[in-house]
Amino acid sequence: MPPSSEMSAGSARAAAEPIAPVSSGGNGLLADAWARIAERMRTEVGDVEYRTWLQQIVLGPVEEDEVTLLLPTRFLRDWVRTQYGDRLNTLWNQEIPAIRRVELQVMRPGERPAAPVNAEPSESAPVPEPVAAPVSDRASDMRSDLAVPLDPRFTFDTFVVGKPNEFAYACARRVAEKPSSVGFNPLFLYGGVGLGKTHLMHAIGAELMRNGGISVAYMSAEKFMYRFIAAIRSQSTVEFKDHLRSVDVLMIDDLQFLIGKDNTQEEFFHTFNALVDAGRQIVVSADKSPSDLSGLEDRLRTRLGCGMVADIHATTFELRISILEAKATASGVHVPGKVLEFLAHKITSNVRELEGALNRLIAHANLFGRPITLESTQDVLHDILKAHDRRVTIEEIQRKVAEHWNIRLTDMSSARRARAVARPRQVAMYLAKQLTSRSLPEIGRKFGNRDHTTVMHAVSRVQELMERDGAFAEDVELLRRMLES
Ligand code: ADP
Ligand code: MG
Repeated sequence: MPPSSEMSAGSARAAAEPIAPVSSGGNGLLADAWARIAERMRTEVGDVEYRTWLQQIVLGPVEEDEVTLLLPTRFLRDWVRTQYGDRLNTLWNQEIPAIRRVELQVMRPGERPAAPVNAEPSESAPVPEPVAAPVSDRASDMRSDLAVPLDPRFTFDTFVVGKPNEFAYACARRVAEKPSSVGFNPLFLYGGVGLGKTHLMHAIGAELMRNGGISVAYMSAEKFMYRFIAAIRSQSTVEFKDHLRSVDVLMIDDLQFLIGKDNTQEEFFHTFNALVDAGRQIVVSADKSPSDLSGLEDRLRTRLGCGMVADIHATTFELRISILEAKATASGVHVPGKVLEFLAHKITSNVRELEGALNRLIAHANLFGRPITLESTQDVLHDILKAHDRRVTIEEIQRKVAEHWNIRLTDMSSARRARAVARPRQVAMYLAKQLTSRSLPEIGRKFGNRDHTTVMHAVSRVQELMERDGAFAEDVELLRRMLES
């Protein structure tokens, strides 16, 4: 069959349209198409799955009928290819019929643009979603909007309690058992990103609904604003207000979003007062305490601090281990203790990232049917671990090495040449080269203004010695591990 007859009418039409040339990161027509496809995928697979697997895709070049999508690691690429490859093909073809193939590739270093086309709105600066407010059906729309489905995974049972969150947990439990108790209304939960605020709120909601007879409205402050604006546009603010004021429990997540949104704040303030006065329960979360939420109207801030304010602290190593153990057990995949410890050491930022890393490991183990080891972990999580790598400083290296060989820190930059001093100094230079991104001249300067050739010599000398002398090699490796952990 001649190639021309293979072309569908659709592709012929689209081929005639100019396709904006793209660099990685994309622009114009293709970037728009990709943004729509990414959004579509997000709706299809859900937020969590999207964030775990698809969010890091970056639009690459297009050549003839093939679009290239880039992923940071081989593993991610393979996973996306097997799990979503066909769907991506179809969606691309629907968007731009001239595109008939999607090629998934691992991006080379430096290929990653600052902001992927499909980047999620960041927590601090959410991108407004389009407000759809059809005038017809608006009342029923609103009812269904307010009944935001709770994530069934976020329950009290699946919440791992430890020192940093036990108080917040206890307060949440209390509110779920006895809403509107004096002293617990409003319940204000605050803490950094990914520490379990949303989880606890959903848990409260799930518990209350399980017991029945109670109406719960949960939404992010952002949603609250969109609903409110939509209500204004469709002239249904009365319904909006009535609805909100009829619930038994109102939960507003990520209240910090209302900072600077004066009208919405005002509306929330009135809703808040109406509900509290009617003996209904309010639960609010934010990234800071009421007193630190500057930019929030004073009277609202005061009222928010009037009930119970509970802080979720950053995780501790122990809590991270418990969370990992619980999640690993729930998954049914065996994850060795060493791997859990490694993850708990490396990923300290928040539970969401910790969970994401573990999920990826588990999926990898399931996909390839291979047991999880420390090595495979480092491989599979290469990109995540890199992002969490602690930056070791030359000063730290000098200190550790000096301690290890019991020499004075000042000898790292002194002119003394005695072997007992010179050798550790060379090791420190070697480690500085291995563990930091400093150049040879920069390293030289930190070691008493030595020349870069001295550093070069130290590096090759240490390498040589490590090959010949097993005990010495072990010493250096030990130091490296200590500095890296
Ligand atoms: P936040 O709303 O504070 O940003 P989330 O509640 O969304 O954080 O939590 C992020 C992820 O971490 C969720 O998947 C949640 O289930 C999980 N998580 C957080 N804290 C815990 C915990 N103590 N036990 C179990 N899972 C947790
Ligand atoms: Mg949250």
